[in-house]
Amino acid sequence: MDMKYVPTTCPYCGCGCGFNLVVQDKKVVGVAPWHRTPVNEGKLCPKGNYAHEFVNSPDRLTKPLIKKDGKFVEASWDEAYKLIVSKFKSYKGDEMACLSSARVSNEENYLMQKFARAVLKTPNIDHCARLCHASTVVGLAGAFGSGAMTNSIADIGESKCIFVLGSNTLEQHPLIGRQIMLAKKRGAKVICADPRFTPTAKLADLYMPFDSGTDVALLNGIMQHIIRNGWENKDFIAKRTKDYDKFKEVVMKDTYSLENVSKITKIPAKDIATTAEWIAKAESSNVLYSMGITQHTTGVDNVKSVANLQMLTGHLGKRGGGVCALRGQNNVQGACDMGALANVYSGYQSVIVPEMRKKMIDAWGCDIAEGKVGLTVTKLINTLADQPGTVKCVYIMGENPMISDPDLHHVEKGLKNVEFMVVQDIFMTETGALANVVLPAACYAEKDGTQTSTERRVQKWRKAQDPPGEAKADWQIICELGKAMGYEKQFPFKSAEEIFTEVSKVTPSYGGMDYTRLEKPEALHWPCPTKEHPGTPILHKEKFSHPDGLGIFTPLEFKYPAEVPDKDYPLIMTTGRCIWQWHTGTMTRRSENLEREEPTGWVEVNPEDAKALGIRDKEKVRAVTRRGQIEIGARVTKDIKKGVVFMPFHYAECAANLLTNNALDPVASIPEFKACAVRLEKIAEAK
Ligand code: SF4
Repeated sequence: MDMKYVPTTCPYCGCGCGFNLVVQDKKVVGVAPWHRTPVNEGKLCPKGNYAHEFVNSPDRLTKPLIKKDGKFVEASWDEAYKLIVSKFKSYKGDEMACLSSARVSNEENYLMQKFARAVLKTPNIDHCARLCHASTVVGLAGAFGSGAMTNSIADIGESKCIFVLGSNTLEQHPLIGRQIMLAKKRGAKVICADPRFTPTAKLADLYMPFDSGTDVALLNGIMQHIIRNGWENKDFIAKRTKDYDKFKEVVMKDTYSLENVSKITKIPAKDIATTAEWIAKAESSNVLYSMGITQHTTGVDNVKSVANLQMLTGHLGKRGGGVCALRGQNNVQGACDMGALANVYSGYQSVIVPEMRKKMIDAWGCDIAEGKVGLTVTKLINTLADQPGTVKCVYIMGENPMISDPDLHHVEKGLKNVEFMVVQDIFMTETGALANVVLPAACYAEKDGTQTSTERRVQKWRKAQDPPGEAKADWQIICELGKAMGYEKQFPFKSAEEIFTEVSKVTPSYGGMDYTRLEKPEALHWPCPTKEHPGTPILHKEKFSHPDGLGIFTPLEFKYPAEVPDKDYPLIMTTGRCIWQWHTGTMTRRSENLEREEPTGWVEVNPEDAKALGIRDKEKVRAVTRRGQIEIGARVTKDIKKGVVFMPFHYAECAANLLTNNALDPVASIPEFKACAVRLEKIAEAK
């Protein structure tokens, strides 16, 4: 029996845990601890432990598929490429759009944006970061000059006070949750604000249930109390920031007094005051946040408000401090870094700055798309649905907008308007079913590459087995398509390592990285601009990333969500994940041990709301919003605040996103997944 252990990085959440894939007779058969990884030291959450289960699923795509007379038929790669090339060549740049993926490697994201911009000449390239942390990228870049998590994961364990806002860290980033537990054991205070009494909230010393979407009011209330008591860090504010006075003018308004903020958020005033005191007086304090604050029409405001709090108290640029934006998918940080966004090339080099565009033209050796911001995922879907014929051709790699995007009826309408659609994935998905061509891709265990975790750590995937059937690595498919489109010189790559060499040449923050340096288990944190640079686990130690080195305060007023409860839709609906499933369920729902734990969706309802509606625990109910309705089992629990209901969004059969609102943050174009108005109805029992 031939057996080996191949060290690699987990394909699920942004923690970036390492493990060994156990390979027997050339097939992945299990996962074993890799104790030398600094992120998780051999420990894994359930998803990591079962990350091998979907790899050899019989459902894997193994051959290209072309739709003929409404049915998919198997085709050769040659046939598929010929059809795709003839179609791609028949459209103009702006008539096409590409969606890249937070699940695939850095190298593949880099190539996808290069393919869109250099081959198709379209500025329309984006990916699902738009749906989770676009507001982080914009908000933190505005405040600090860099839109990423400021401190490392291990550093969270050193903090003396941790404020968790809009993150169920113990379930969504379990190995970061472990650092919260370690910090608490070492004496740190833990505060959690969330409408749900999550496992993370249960760990907290102070739990504040509040109405979804009232984050800016809460943060302004905390900051006003700090300033009123003279607890602000005057030295940090004077030396390292600007625009404090403009910010102070807004935050000190009567609207943000403890009493008023208590009315808006429904949090007792004394708890807001305690939060302010613990944060301001701690030797170091960290804010951990995730999609609970980013997925709002005020997502950018929420993020900037967190930045205001950390500058006000001077908890930045030091151990145990920071703003820890916990990125969701394994490589959503990397996909952003690689320029799979409508407004930037790799390394956040703006497409509208002529020198940046010229740099890419020179590096790639060809003309590229016009220097303008392209359509984001959210705007693309709106354009497809509401202006048919504007964008006619879409190429999607590793994304499933038919489950992940808000208001799914609208998404379906849009995708059905596309004339020619190519989907590249490891399984047939709800989106793939609407495509003209489906290309079979290799999964993380079947290729080399790198991914960048939420703490900006760039780590390797190592190939453990061959892909099934004729499936190929995404980077190989893009290279072959690039060549078939006549761009041989731009896509000469024979390995992921060769692509990474080009990435490091054109991306300043990755400039000092190469595969030899990344081979060590600890890998490297960006920025790492030169071969001698050790990487940067903590950002903004001496100065912020703006040209003048100063952090910028932003005055922010509280605004209600786009849709608030009324007599027809009297409850607030919020969505999220559970520990056993992942995102659209493509991988976890094909993992026996994970699917068995939570095989379908549910809606959490507070006992008082349930009683008023006559709903019993486990009873199937109808959930209705202005956009659609689903039938779903009720979970009656005190763990959800009265007036709020929660649904996980993994399940196609009761898709929460049929109900969610696609109202967008005006700056980051992120949809308001986390708050919409909903009505629950008892389903009449059959007589
Ligand atoms: Fe994978 Fe995240 Fe679990 Fe770590 S915490 S094993 S990265 S899913």
